[in-house]
Amino acid sequence: MPAQPHYLMVRPDFYDIEYTINPWMRGNLRRVDRALALEQWEFFYRNLTQAADVQVLEPVEGLPDMVFAANGALVLNGKAVPAVFRYPQRRDEKPHFQAWLADHDFEIHKLPETIYFEGVGDAIPDPTRNVLWAGYGVRSTLQAHGLVARLLDVEVLPLRLVDERFYHLDTCFSVLEDGTAIYYPQAFDRPSLLVIERYVPPEKRIEASTADALKMACNTVEAGGRVFLNDCSTELQARIENTGVKVARTDLSQFVLSGGSCGCLVLRLDRSLSPPPKGRPSRVEEREIDIAGHLIDHNIMNSVFDTVVEKGGSFEVLEMIPGVHKEDMSRARVKVTAPTAAQMHEILPGLMRLGARVARPEVDARLEPVDIPGTAPEDFYSTTIYPTDVRIDGEWTRCADQRMDAAIVVEKDPLTRIATARCCLLRDLDTHHVVVAGTEGIRVRIPKQSRDDGEQESFQFMGASVSSERRVDVTVEQIAWEMSRIRERRGKIVVVTGPVTVHTGGTSSLEALIRAGYVQAFLGGNAVAVHDIERDLFGTSLGVDLTRGVVVEGGHRHHIRAINRIRRAGGIRKAVEAGIVKSGIMKALVDGNIPYVLAGSIRDDGPLPDTLMDLVEAQRQYQEAIRGADMILMLSSMLHAIGTGNMTPAGVRLICVDINPAVITKLADRGSMESVGVVTDVGLFLKLLVEKLQALEPAKV
Ligand code: NAD
Repeated sequence: MPAQPHYLMVRPDFYDIEYTINPWMRGNLRRVDRALALEQWEFFYRNLTQAADVQVLEPVEGLPDMVFAANGALVLNGKAVPAVFRYPQRRDEKPHFQAWLADHDFEIHKLPETIYFEGVGDAIPDPTRNVLWAGYGVRSTLQAHGLVARLLDVEVLPLRLVDERFYHLDTCFSVLEDGTAIYYPQAFDRPSLLVIERYVPPEKRIEASTADALKMACNTVEAGGRVFLNDCSTELQARIENTGVKVARTDLSQFVLSGGSCGCLVLRLDRSLSPPPKGRPSRVEEREIDIAGHLIDHNIMNSVFDTVVEKGGSFEVLEMIPGVHKEDMSRARVKVTAPTAAQMHEILPGLMRLGARVARPEVDARLEPVDIPGTAPEDFYSTTIYPTDVRIDGEWTRCADQRMDAAIVVEKDPLTRIATARCCLLRDLDTHHVVVAGTEGIRVRIPKQSRDDGEQESFQFMGASVSSERRVDVTVEQIAWEMSRIRERRGKIVVVTGPVTVHTGGTSSLEALIRAGYVQAFLGGNAVAVHDIERDLFGTSLGVDLTRGVVVEGGHRHHIRAINRIRRAGGIRKAVEAGIVKSGIMKALVDGNIPYVLAGSIRDDGPLPDTLMDLVEAQRQYQEAIRGADMILMLSSMLHAIGTGNMTPAGVRLICVDINPAVITKLADRGSMESVGVVTDVGLFLKLLVEKLQALEPAKV
């Protein structure tokens, strides 16, 4: 005959709903029928005592939730970890539980007061698997479970709760004596469900429906072959009883009003687990990261927190030193906790993208060989647009060809053994390469951003803000000023554009810019060249007369005729040289011997002989064309602007002009701080730009 389970309960003499700290309590303030609550509690207590040894702790006036004894502590192997309640309303319960446990010879292990942990509510021992299921994300923190694992020397399996209604793990998850788990899947995030599925075989899993979960059917207590629960459907009852136990429905409606029932009312005192096998790493991973920059005014700290939480982790700010003056940087050290090593590996790259560095003695980057051509090892480090250093043989090496979404290939000179690192696209990887894997030994340098006020600020604005007309005027003037300075120092400006530039009458302005030396490379698709040439040959763009704005009869065929003429001439340059094309963007490029790359797409008519239909080659030529660019003007081509943005390293000024703010936001998402978004008509933008340049440099434009 197995020993009876041993429980602690607290009488509901002072139970009521006096505050709202979970969604169940909302609207139920002081609506508890105390007499009924007492009756329900007594009924449950009497039934439980038939098969369990139940001790009772005296309630305390003013602590209405003390009745939910499960939250007071975790008791395991004769040791007790008292709760650290998240809400101040419940904090005074702790000394009462702690004192009772100490008086009854439990060894007390306290957690720091800042690390929330709500006892068995969020820590369910599972002796059949020798693990402690640990809920976090609403009340208890993940750090707490890492500490509990170490304090009690047990293996914890953290599960992230994502539905505020199931604020404690025991409201949506319980384990029967035979190892059957009754749980409500929607209360967990995806990685947590995978953990449950990995540890609990299908025949031991009972998923509760939403209706059952809301009846608190997962909040069970088992004793003497009976499973006590508030209420459930007959279907769920049958499934539970199939495991060989009896379901004892125990109406606890007055406690359900505040979000608790059977499981919450008892604290199990006689659970034990063995230490995990030696060498098995604790599942909860912790790292400290350092981050410096304009953390407050650029909202970087919020992004750090979001990045951690979105990937299932949690954080604790260990230190924060704010910059005192406007130009000072702030510094912070943050402890990041993740439920598994794999999740930590998902969190860290996101933090590094924000400029964080893993704080630990410096280690070399881990290098892994490429085993399949054109692919990287599973956990390869994927690059950002920011300058990146890699630590190899104790030396920091700056990565060449910086771009986003690449792997870092490390090569060593056979004679000197000096290592170099460079970004390499997945498709270019081969089996003789080794690439950087994981996140150790990598430093990402986020450039300092100008923090000047006033007009400079407007110069920095991103796509998020839709520019007003006056703002456009100011912004364009500043762009013009910057372009003139780049030109003066013989820098490089690249234009990326689509056919909208032609449709909106921007051709003559763009042509003027090219002829005045403001464009050093030109990127686009088939269409921009086709419509530019159509405009020259027929005066139309997509069949619309550009001077009168009306559709010309038969005009819809003009673009295909233009393509045909260029194909017959053997390409754009030949057509220009033969005098077939007499004006426009392409003519100005050819005249000025300015390199252009036209990248093909599935939509392309023709295509023009110049259009590269081999996209890998087109990407390569684009990348070549933007090498060394100081500024890239991205004018109304989502496809080509985003394509170019992805291959551009940080530090290059990106000016994105589009009528649709979403395109600008998309570009800004790559994290560049040098992006300027101008939401306006591209034809007007170009006209204004030329005017501003004329005002600045009348002799040149
Ligand atoms: P795209 O959708 O990538 O970009 C067009 C962008 O222009 C959009 O972001 C849109 O918001 C913006 N826009 C629209 N009106 C604007 C205005 N008045 N001012 C500022 N921005 C404005 O399309 P795309 O670059 O035109 O074409 C995608 C691909 O299809 C290209 O490779 C192109 O060459 C090809 N294409 C080929 C043909 C052809 O061969 N005949 C015709 C059309 C497109």
